[in-house]
Amino acid sequence: EVDWFSLASILFLLMFAPLIVYYFIMSCDQYQCSLIDPLVDLLTGRKHLSDIWDKTPTLTYRAAGIYALWVTFQVVLYVFIPDFCHKFLPGYVGGVQEGAVTPAGVVNKYQINGLQAWIITHMLWFANAYYFHFFSPTIIFDNWIPLLWCANILGYAVSTFAMIKSYYFPTNAKDCKFTGNFFYDYMMGIEFNPRIGKWFDFKLFFNGRPGIVAWTLINLSYAAKQQELYGQVTNSMILVNVLQGIYVLDFFWNEAWYLKTIDICHDHFGWYLGWGDCVWLPYLYTLQGLYLVYHPVQLGTANAIGILMLGLIGYYIFRMTNHQKDLFRRTNGNCKIWRKKPEYIECSYMSVDGTKYYSKLLTSGFWGWARHFNYTGDLMGSLAYCLTCEFEHILPYFYIIYMTILLTHRCIRDEHRCFSKYGKDWKRYTAAVPYRLIPGVF
Ligand code: NDP
Repeated sequence: EVDWFSLASILFLLMFAPLIVYYFIMSCDQYQCSLIDPLVDLLTGRKHLSDIWDKTPTLTYRAAGIYALWVTFQVVLYVFIPDFCHKFLPGYVGGVQEGAVTPAGVVNKYQINGLQAWIITHMLWFANAYYFHFFSPTIIFDNWIPLLWCANILGYAVSTFAMIKSYYFPTNAKDCKFTGNFFYDYMMGIEFNPRIGKWFDFKLFFNGRPGIVAWTLINLSYAAKQQELYGQVTNSMILVNVLQGIYVLDFFWNEAWYLKTIDICHDHFGWYLGWGDCVWLPYLYTLQGLYLVYHPVQLGTANAIGILMLGLIGYYIFRMTNHQKDLFRRTNGNCKIWRKKPEYIECSYMSVDGTKYYSKLLTSGFWGWARHFNYTGDLMGSLAYCLTCEFEHILPYFYIIYMTILLTHRCIRDEHRCFSKYGKDWKRYTAAVPYRLIPGVF
């Protein structure tokens, strides 16, 4: 169903999301990361839009070359190098893995090799930075706006291609969702799991690489820029690199688990994922590091330790909550959560072909505290990244504001879907676990 609010939000995002990204990055480039000063300049007539635009770096052949090489390299790592990490890393699940059952009853196979791609990419990065010196480690920062144009081109190209593909040569026609509204379909996607060939899965590739592999490289490039400009890397920059590095590594270590998350299990592939993964994620999730290049912050020891603890505790809650659900679902409840047999609610649902399935909703461990305590942990970690930048500007706080909106909206969207899926069983579950994110509050 496409209600007017969803449609209005979609139109707003299609029109303004690319401008929002541009505005943030331009503010750092031309206004030392102040979000207010460009507006003041424009409103008082001190500057015109054309003045700002004229000072904006354009697309360059160099950036286009770097970007094309980067994406091609990630495609090669994804498609042509089967995973070997699972052969020697104890506890790591990689190689060929199965995804969840789609609404049409299909079970897709995936080549899980993100950790390997991340390790190879970073080994090459460090080999270059410390030994080969083919390019400067500040290369990403130095080409940041020209690369933005390349990322936009890829984001729009892949979303448009996915839309055309869903009409003319869908991977699985039964798993397509047409709402009849062009903008909604373009934004939220039609095909569930678009693929080229047997292994190139759009959702897995674009969600994880090139954006998330790049995340840690972008931060390293910012650290290198600080070193170049100020002769040292501040402890706040190190904290951003370490905390976000843990988050990224966790993502790749658990890539097989990721096949069971909403992105892969329930979202269709459209502009929201295609453009979002190419542009929104690498540009806006890395704002703290970018800010720290312009405003190097050396935190006091107590503050640095406090932020580190907040980040680590948030990460622990995020990981343990996700782990508890994963363990519970994988073992069909035959496991221990906090050393006890798990409590749960039995539920049932129908697939589109009328087959009845059974499932279980966990009500112990962190899942007994709140229905999405994994989001709460994620938000604590996100706040920690932002706090490294202290309080002079709002720009680095965009991340926690955005994540709060994203995860609250996601929580509501997910619960709406679960209610349609499980009906009265979902009501029994919400009665057993009444809070969404913060026990006793929300
Ligand atoms: P969840 O991992 O919470 O998955 C929700 C699904 O889990 C529901 O649709 C339902 O699916 C099932 N479920 C819900 N309650 C229970 C329960 N009590 N017991 C068992 N299964 C249950 O959400 P996401 O996939 O959105 O998030 C995964 C992680 O990724 C989170 O930690 C989140 O913070 C993070 N994330 C990060 C983002 C970022 O940009 N940094 C963006 C989005 C997510 P079913 O139909 O199988 O019952």
